Amino acid sequence: MKKELYDVVIIGGGPGGYSAALYCARNGYSVLVLEKLSAGGQMATTGQVDNYPGFDEGIDGFELAEKMQRGAERFGVETEYAEVNSVDLSPANKKITTSSGIVSARSVIVATGASPRELGLPEESSLRGRGVAYCAACDGQMYRSKTVAIAGGGNSAAADALLLSKICAKVYLVHRRDSLRASRIYMEPLKNSGVEFVWDSKITEILHDKRVSGIRVENVKDKTTREIPVDGVFVAIGRVPDTGLFKGQLDLDPHGYIIADESTRTNIEGVFAVGDVRTKALRQIVTAAADGANASHYVEEYLM
Ligand SMILES: Cc1cc2nc3c(=O)[nH]c(=O)nc-3n(C[C@H](O)[C@H](O)[C@H](O)COP(=O)(O)OP(=O)(O)OC[C@H]3O[C@@H](n4cnc5c(N)ncnc54)[C@H](O)[C@@H]3O)c2cc1C
Repeated sequence: MKKELYDVVIIGGGPGGYSAALYCARNGYSVLVLEKLSAGGQMATTGQVDNYPGFDEGIDGFELAEKMQRGAERFGVETEYAEVNSVDLSPANKKITTSSGIVSARSVIVATGASPRELGLPEESSLRGRGVAYCAACDGQMYRSKTVAIAGGGNSAAADALLLSKICAKVYLVHRRDSLRASRIYMEPLKNSGVEFVWDSKITEILHDKRVSGIRVENVKDKTTREIPVDGVFVAIGRVPDTGLFKGQLDLDPHGYIIADESTRTNIEGVFAVGDVRTKALRQIVTAAADGANASHYVEEYLM
């Protein structure tokens, strides 16, 4: 870190973070991005991104991440690969303690993202990208005319089931209860969607050779098991926002997301939340990037 005090420190180098960085740097502010792993966040783990405008043949998520980072650094943004371990957000000069030292900021943009909740099955992570997926809007097209199963029973599972029913040959929805906990708007369309519900059941094993070949499901009431051949498993059992650091300082909703509207302002003056980490309806690259741009407007208003 070249300075002790920056105008803007951004925690998290995903699309939300680098979009905010680009806009803030172009507004003339000194900007530091703190990233604990590598630029791009969740986006960098995505093989093919087909729904970020401007790339007519799609783009590899890692490549898009590099482009976003370089695009921001072209305007003077600094990146420090360090994990933020604690923050003191109340003072005018906010204190951020990282694995490579302490830095102060006149304003802070939180862009730490959220991760999909996993089923917790032993083979799950190694099959990620080889039949196990966490985002139907992102990866659904790869399963065109194939058979898939969705795990979950809330709004995101219902929305994923509807979306995939239009793409796939066959869709199973595996839910541990005997009805969905989804909004009414999904119920009527789901009835006519051809989705087959596997009620009172949970996935206990993902069958595979090199790729997913099926699932074993257990009926939670009578404990019987059966195998269902599928090409893909979409896990839609919620997300886990990366907000542990901010508990007790920033207002969080019951699921742990930072409460902030489109202005990205939080309950603390000079602290903003962008991307998947904030309360919002659609968590995607384009919405994270849009948040970053919005945040820069309110950062400028605050720093003026
Ligand atoms: C498998 C998968 C496929 C997807 N495919 C698509 C797609 O095709 N199209 C699409 O639009 N969206 C897709 N998404 C969703 C999209 O990736 C996210 O909506 C987007 O990346 C959110 O951006 P973000 O900047 O808010 O957070 P993230 O991308 O989650 O980035 C957060 C960053 O913060 C860093 N961080 C967290 N805590 C700390 C800390 N304490 N210190 C320092 N750094 C920290 C993390 O390392 C991470 O790099 C996909 C998601 C997944 C998981």
